Amino acid sequence: MTERWQSVAAAAGLMSPDGSTRPTIFGEMTALANATNSVNLGQGFPDADGPEWVRRVAAEAILDGANQYPPGRGIPELRGAIARHQERNYRVAVDPESEVLVTVGATEALAAALLAFAGPGDEVVTLEPYYDAYAAAIALSGATHVTVALRPEAGGFTVDRAALEAAVGERTRVILLNTPHNPTGTVLSAAELDLVAAAAQQCDAIVLTDEVYEHLTFDGHQHRSIAALPGMAERTITISSSGKTFSLTGWKIGWAVGPAMLIEAMTAVKQFLTYAGGAPFQPAIARALDEGEADIAALRDSLADRKELLVAGLRGAGFGLVVPGGTYFVCADAAPFLSDAVPDGAAFARALPRAVGVACVPVSAFCREGSPTADALSSWVRFTFVKDDATIRTAITRLAGLTAEHLAEHA
Ligand code: PMP
Repeated sequence: MTERWQSVAAAAGLMSPDGSTRPTIFGEMTALANATNSVNLGQGFPDADGPEWVRRVAAEAILDGANQYPPGRGIPELRGAIARHQERNYRVAVDPESEVLVTVGATEALAAALLAFAGPGDEVVTLEPYYDAYAAAIALSGATHVTVALRPEAGGFTVDRAALEAAVGERTRVILLNTPHNPTGTVLSAAELDLVAAAAQQCDAIVLTDEVYEHLTFDGHQHRSIAALPGMAERTITISSSGKTFSLTGWKIGWAVGPAMLIEAMTAVKQFLTYAGGAPFQPAIARALDEGEADIAALRDSLADRKELLVAGLRGAGFGLVVPGGTYFVCADAAPFLSDAVPDGAAFARALPRAVGVACVPVSAFCREGSPTADALSSWVRFTFVKDDATIRTAITRLAGLTAEHLAEHA
């Protein structure tokens, strides 16, 4: 293995002590869930496909000939729809010609941005816990990953001002934000976004903001886009995707919106990652963005109900938890179920499928190995509620009555 890949694998937590690579915790938990016939609340993908009318647009686009390379930046209809979406939702004026790039999911937008903007000697600041692809893409860029802890408070996971101020400095090139936040479900407040904006301005950093869950917020929590803050549009790349918004995660239509010069740089990188993708899906997502408000509202309402159901079930089973303001996920503290045999969230997640037939993932999988945040959240696990009612109810029934003793027998 080359050194670069080793460092990427290590950053992504994929190195075994013997130097070989191991599967991600998501792969491991899904395999375990399948082997034990468990309800898989580990991996966050919907078990119901997005709106039929949107799928029909894509099917017709295939039959009508949208089967060759689309333009590298994305088809004009989709770029226009993305610009209108940003203007309508966040009052940010966007030029679809020069300020929008269509990507293969948010994942490609993140990779293209990090490869374009960060390199050896630079620092990239993220919240911790963080979506696992961030650490790998930062490592690929050669930059150093610096994290700011999110702390579980009564009202939610919050950004600590002192931790943010300590993390940013002269070498900070990029602040990579994620709101609504995976895995914690936190929707950053106006005050928290102000802090990040001030920090970015102070060290002249680019802000990348991953907003793939932008429409999936509950209980009056409002998603705010940092690009809409005064002076921020000129240094912010907003990244999102249609996967979560329309329950079409396999289509991988994502995008980046930001200043023309930064989009230009990302386009240069992106053309050698994939050049382009998803020709028949692009017209369908263009229509969905323009005409899919009711579908988005229906998904949000139904997810809010499923969140309530899972939160009540987890509480009933004895978990402490932070109620998420958005996303597909709730994080719960498994401390009441730990023992010498099952000492932390990772051991809990490995024992749970065999003990009761439910799979989750440990929050430590979203932390740097051995970091203070990994320690602080070592007993926490993440469950998804983007599953149908019956599946969630089955999981709740199986979790009811769980005890540390029973779990220890399956360690
Ligand atoms: N960012 C976050 C925070 C996510 O949770 C995900 C999907 N799990 C992605 C990015 C990836 O999005 P896409 O599938 O559009 O590449």
